[in-house]
Amino acid sequence: MFYHIVTYGCQMNVHESEKIAFILEEMGYKPTDKREDADIIVFNTCAIREGAEERVFGNVGALKKLKKMRPSLIIAVCGCMTQKINTAKTFKQKFPFVDIIIGTFNLYKIGDYVRELQNKKVLELWESGAIDETKGYTRTSGENAWVNIMQGCNNFCTYCIVPYVRGREISRTPENIIKEIEEIVRSGKYKKITLLGQNVNSYGKDLIPSITFAELLRRISEINGDFKIGFMTSHPKDITDELIDEIANNEKVLKELHLPAQSGNNRILKLMNRKYTREHYLDLIRKIRNKIPNIKLTSDFIVGFPTETEEEFLDTMSLVNEVKFNGIFAFMYSLREGTVASKMEGQVPEEIKKIRVNKLLSLEKKIQKEELK
Ligand code: SF4
Repeated sequence: MFYHIVTYGCQMNVHESEKIAFILEEMGYKPTDKREDADIIVFNTCAIREGAEERVFGNVGALKKLKKMRPSLIIAVCGCMTQKINTAKTFKQKFPFVDIIIGTFNLYKIGDYVRELQNKKVLELWESGAIDETKGYTRTSGENAWVNIMQGCNNFCTYCIVPYVRGREISRTPENIIKEIEEIVRSGKYKKITLLGQNVNSYGKDLIPSITFAELLRRISEINGDFKIGFMTSHPKDITDELIDEIANNEKVLKELHLPAQSGNNRILKLMNRKYTREHYLDLIRKIRNKIPNIKLTSDFIVGFPTETEEEFLDTMSLVNEVKFNGIFAFMYSLREGTVASKMEGQVPEEIKKIRVNKLLSLEKKIQKEELK
């Protein structure tokens, strides 16, 4: 028996696919790269951008023929797309041959659903739940081991679908995280541990007693062994002096920080509900570079947010030029149904978004070239 998993989106999804793989392997399935050979095909989906969703619809639709030829083939769709009830319903209507439709909170039950398939035609589940601590992972990222430290997000950036499909922030206990990392280190296979969360800087605020992210880093670094610790993603509004000092002084913590700025213009940042200003962001960068001169800084930007003018876009260009990141990811704003920004007037035409994203990427290329010199 073989399984084939197709993963879209961020590292969180990559890591969750590792859990799905573990569950299926426990049931006796083996991995295969070929869809045609698989007895179960899982699509772990992403809802961040429209393009990614369209790719999923296209790829799932293309399986109709295979399912007709081999009715015993199990097709499952899970992740952020199917956590949105409307999208899940669309799947059900458009692709009645899909057997399992599950959201983000119930991925760990996929094994139960596969077993139940004999009795039910289509299984769907979207309700929220706690973080699963019962299942392991079939790790697929070489010497790097992903470790999820929390799920969900409380920030409600107006363009983002994550709080709607991943729920509010829930932190795993430090004890469970440390136990998992001790096992990873003991296996001797991994040199890097990357802690994952939508906003790792607010880790632990919901726990009793509460614990800061810096304290978690300290406790993880006390585990004996030869490994480095990385983490993502950080929100600029939640970076504390305690955290900067911990990165600076803790030898096991990598000197790398991914700090999404999203825009260099204060009016757009406010409309995005990012809760910091350009000035705050630049001060933060100065402080970080001052304390950690060898830090590798990367960032994300969105261009063409509703009502963004050319002048406001140029503020983003000037911020990128001023900071000279080690790398950036630039995206065109993608309208996500259900978010606040999707209802804003003044949506920017696609052609303008394309021009802006290309300008930003050209600037980035130029900066990297100069830095290389
Ligand atoms: S911090 Fe903002 S962009 Fe990041 S996951 Fe939360 S809502 Fe989305």
